Parts: sequence; C-alpha cells; structure tokens
Amino acid sequence: MKAKILSFFILTFLFFSCSKKDEASLSFLAMDTFMTLKCYGKEAHKVNQKVKAAIEELDSKLSVTLSESDFYRLNKAKDFPVKVSDDCSELLINCKKISELTDAAFDVTLYPVVKEWGFTNGNYHLPSENKIEELLKKVDYKKIQIDKNEVTFEPGQMLDSGAVGKGFAGDKAIEIYKKNGIKSAMVDLGGNIQLLGKNPYGKDWKIGIKNPLQNEIALALKVSNCAVITSGGYERNFKADDGKTYIHIFDPKTGFPVDNDIASVTVISDSGFYADALSTALFVMGQKKAVDFWKKNCNFQMIIITKDKALFYTEGLKNKISACTDFSKVTVLSAL
Ligand code: ADP
Ligand code: MG
Repeated sequence: MKAKILSFFILTFLFFSCSKKDEASLSFLAMDTFMTLKCYGKEAHKVNQKVKAAIEELDSKLSVTLSESDFYRLNKAKDFPVKVSDDCSELLINCKKISELTDAAFDVTLYPVVKEWGFTNGNYHLPSENKIEELLKKVDYKKIQIDKNEVTFEPGQMLDSGAVGKGFAGDKAIEIYKKNGIKSAMVDLGGNIQLLGKNPYGKDWKIGIKNPLQNEIALALKVSNCAVITSGGYERNFKADDGKTYIHIFDPKTGFPVDNDIASVTVISDSGFYADALSTALFVMGQKKAVDFWKKNCNFQMIIITKDKALFYTEGLKNKISACTDFSKVTVLSAL
C-alpha cells in the first residue's frame, strides 16, 4: 500500500513538474533558418528570450551579408590583421582544427567557390573549369592566422561559417540554459537538433531523421544531452544547363559540389560545433572514408544513408535507433 501511495505521489509530482506552465516554446528566423527553442523549468520563457537574443547577436557577428559583421569585414578587408569578436576567433580556431583532422574535407575558406556557383544569392550556374581552378587557389585554411582577436589571411580569400554556425550557436544556447538552471531543453536550428538533459518526462527525447531520398521520416532516434546534426544534398540544390543537379556542399579539393555515394550523414556528439563540422566533412569524404574516419576517431556516433538506400550506423546507437522505412541493407559499425 505504501509503495502505491509513493508511486502515486511520484507520478503526480512528475505530472505537475512537467505541466505546461513550466514549458516555453519560441520560434524565430535567424541565420537564414527557422529556429524553435523549447525548454522546461522555472522562468522558461525568460531563458528562451535570452537564448534568442544570444543567437541573434551571434548571427550579427557570423553573417556574411550583414555589414559590420566580423565575417563581412573579414571578406572585404584589404588590410590585415582584422579585429574580430571572441566568438569569431573561437570559431575560426576550431574550424582550423577540424580541417586538420579531416584532411581538409572541411575548409572554412571555400566561400569564393560557393559564391561563384550562386549558392549565396540564388544566381546558380555552372562555372567554367578555368574559373574554378582560379578560385581554388584562394581555398586554403592554412593561410588563416589567428592571434587572440586578430585575424590575418591572404587578400582575396573569403570565409563563411555556413557549415558550422548553427552547431556553434546550439552550443551557446545550451550553455545559457545550463547557466540559468534549465535542465531540459530542445533547440531546433533548422533541423539541427541540440538537446539538454532528458525530456520533461525524464526519458530520452525521440528525434526523427529524414529520409534524404523521399519525403518521410527514415529513422527514429532516442537520445539525450547531445547534438544531432545532419548534412545532405536534398534541401539546397539546383539543376544546371547540363541537366545535372548540384548541391550546396563542396569538395574543397575539386571546387565541385559533392556527388558521391552518400545521401545524408548524421553526427551525434556532445558538441554541436563538432557535429555540424563533421557532418559536412564526412559527407564530402564519401561512405568508405567516413567509416574509416570514425574508426580512427570514434568519439562521436554516426548514421549514413547512401543513395542506394543502405543504412550504416555506429554501435553506440544500438537500442537507440529504429527504422521507419525499408533499407536495402543495414550495417552496424564497430570500432574494431
Ligand atoms: P546546412 O547548412 O544545410 O545544414 P552544412 O552544415 O553541411 O549544411 O553546411 C553547408 C554550407 O557550408 C554551405 O552552404 C557552404 O556555405 C558551406 N560549405 C560547403 N561545403 C563546405 C566544406 N567542404 N567545408 C566548409 N564549408 C562548406
Ligand atoms: Mg555542417
């Protein structure tokens, strides 16, 4: 009887502790993306407003189009060094580390190439081979020097944080929630999901992973306290005069949009920045190299869906992942 009363009490407590008055949801546009913040706990509305303000402030530093942003000033600079914010220098230091780690599959200096193809203004076209060759000379993360808040690189080089900005912003959001006593939050930055703690019912959050090959959910994932970030070519692409579809993720070695066996890569990690950077880099590598990379650096979990609808996922996701569609083959990756 006592146990019954106790469990009734716990259930009631859980029910009240998760009631709507403690839930706050806030949607807005920033970083060219529709964002939704959800958090639970005391002052949830106020904390969401703080997080929104911080993301907007970060956007005003990282945007390539807002004049006075760090990236705008860097890309227009004729004299170096250029003074930048703490956030910008932290981001660039981390970008260089990821480039080293991924053998430059990720390169923050790709912007001149991305711009030429029209992905920055919608003026899409297939550039000439000569033009690509000329622009590729400007792509080299090694030429960026960061000394505290001063950044130097070669005139003509340009940077963009498109592949990491949302993950970086997600990390900042989670930091603010923690500082303000929030223990449960879900940040959705245009499909980049970042989770703080468990859901308000004390369970893992259930996240859907899109099928990159057709409009449906391919996988359900039960996770907590992590970032879940996907790169794929299915959302931003264009069809060129040669009849081919070109996507917004580029191979820094060729200056061409990636066209390999991968349809999407999802990275699950403690850090949003790392997950965002890696999902882009692993996409560039292709399935085989991405799996080899994971075997050498298995401090994250990974899901790959290939163009022939095969599914690969890392062993740490066993019991957390369930398929919502049919795959041609399923492979669980183990580190050994
Ligand atoms: P999304 O922004 O759609 O979530 P990604 O995180 O993969 O996708 O980032 C893609 C963006 O990053 C592109 O729009 C471009 O600005 C930039 N980018 C493309 N290829 C690379 C690359 N290999 N390394 C660094 N940045 C890239
Ligand atoms: Mg990315």
